[in-house]
Amino acid sequence: MNNQGRTTRIGEQADAQHKTFTGARALEANEPLIFEFGRNDVTGVDIDAPGAFTARLGALAREGAPDLPGLTEPEAVRHYVRLSRMNYSIDAGLFPLGSCTMKHNPRLNEKMARLPGFADIHPLQPQSTARGALALMDQLSHWLLELTGMDAVALTPKAGAHGELCGMMAIKAAIVARGEAEQRRVVLVPDSAHGTNPATAALIGFEVRAVPAGADGLVRAEAVRAALGPDVAAIMLTNPNTCGLFEREVVAIAEAVHEAGAYFYADGANFNAIVGKTRPGDLGVDAMHINLHKTFSTPHGGGGPGAGPVVLSGRLAAFAPVPFLRKEGDGVALVEDRAATQAFGRMSAFHGQMGMYVRAFAYMLSHGADGLKQASEDAVLNANYIRASLRDLFSQPFGDKPCMHEVLFDESWLKDTGLSTLDFAKALIDEGYHPMTVYFPLVVKGAMLIEPTESESKASLDLFCMTMRDLALRIKRGQGEPFHSAPHFAPRARLDETRAARQPVLKWTARKPSVAAQ
Ligand SMILES: *Cc1c(COP(=O)(O)O)cnc(C)c1O
Repeated sequence: MNNQGRTTRIGEQADAQHKTFTGARALEANEPLIFEFGRNDVTGVDIDAPGAFTARLGALAREGAPDLPGLTEPEAVRHYVRLSRMNYSIDAGLFPLGSCTMKHNPRLNEKMARLPGFADIHPLQPQSTARGALALMDQLSHWLLELTGMDAVALTPKAGAHGELCGMMAIKAAIVARGEAEQRRVVLVPDSAHGTNPATAALIGFEVRAVPAGADGLVRAEAVRAALGPDVAAIMLTNPNTCGLFEREVVAIAEAVHEAGAYFYADGANFNAIVGKTRPGDLGVDAMHINLHKTFSTPHGGGGPGAGPVVLSGRLAAFAPVPFLRKEGDGVALVEDRAATQAFGRMSAFHGQMGMYVRAFAYMLSHGADGLKQASEDAVLNANYIRASLRDLFSQPFGDKPCMHEVLFDESWLKDTGLSTLDFAKALIDEGYHPMTVYFPLVVKGAMLIEPTESESKASLDLFCMTMRDLALRIKRGQGEPFHSAPHFAPRARLDETRAARQPVLKWTARKPSVAAQ
């Protein structure tokens, strides 16, 4: 039963004698595209034909009915509910993606974000009518600065990657202000970095120079010194890094970078491992984005709203983009006008993602300083619990030593089994788990990066570890053959990912069968 290279409908993978008439598997529907079952002549609403009116669209008026699928209201509702049930989510089960921090979003956050004073304000309404929202943004800023030990914060970036762009634009503005734009054109990036780091530097015209990590997965100050020169504008360093390790030489690296006249950009995506334990400002960081959706809960993924505020050191504070908050009288004002400032520009329309600010702030207040610190400690403890539970069966690329909030395994334990990290990850889907991050960081062969977060109970971790062990033991006993074609129970098995990427079919056409139906 090898499904490689083609897609299958639900049910097709079931035993031949257990095929269902509908193609559904119990409550799991085989849902067609809305265009496949919608009818032009059906509508879910019942409106009277319009009375007398004057058409004012002239030549732009539509001549025929739009070719949209018509459905009854229950059909429309069922379609989307069924699609939503195909989603895996943190509310459905453990989501062990490393470098992604899929943590539980407390429902209290949602309740607060829906308060009309936050949810129903309009970005263009007068500031005097949204003082509570501005005060919340000011208090959130205060705690972000307090927790990071930095001087200024730009709240507007919409995601981590957007925050990177913001921080690097502030660095560029500072270099331009120093009259060194022509000279400083290089950004150093360790080779374990998240792809967004070199992409950000390149996007704004910097040349990227890679810094190799040592055999233990850590960046050496010596290697940074060797790469530094009068042409270097900044280093972009993730700490804890994407191998789940704390960069021990970070202070020496910051000193070397500053001595060379460059800036230290920290990728703060892993800040959730160190909140309350150490402050980036004390480590010499000049700019760092905070993925509110990774560190301070808030929903994550699905392309929904995120928020990536950037904290800046005193050396960069003046260049923060507009709008920013300024104390005025007994409240705060959102400064929109760039004219009287050194702001490099603006990152987005309006003030940013209000709902995310509310959720992050609710998370901070409900945890308190001690709770935030404990969340970091528990995240690290949980990752190490998984490491300790699996280390006899799985291999660790940098030796058997404690990790931070995520544990990294490589594929050397699969040597001579004929199976790959991908096969293993696919087998995990059959067990009802979303797989861990695989093949990242790129510096580790066949990487499996697991981040349980602090949200998981010991019982949940135990079941996950027992599942991982059971799969590994099946492989060690020579029973891994079915893994080649796993998952066997998922609605879709192995997709031809190469073909999907090279020949994407993005538009449904009536005559040609859709990709899913091929
Ligand atoms: C998640 C992540 C990013 C990008 O953040 P987004 O919010 O997804 O844009 C950057 N760097 C690292 C290390 C990350 O884990």
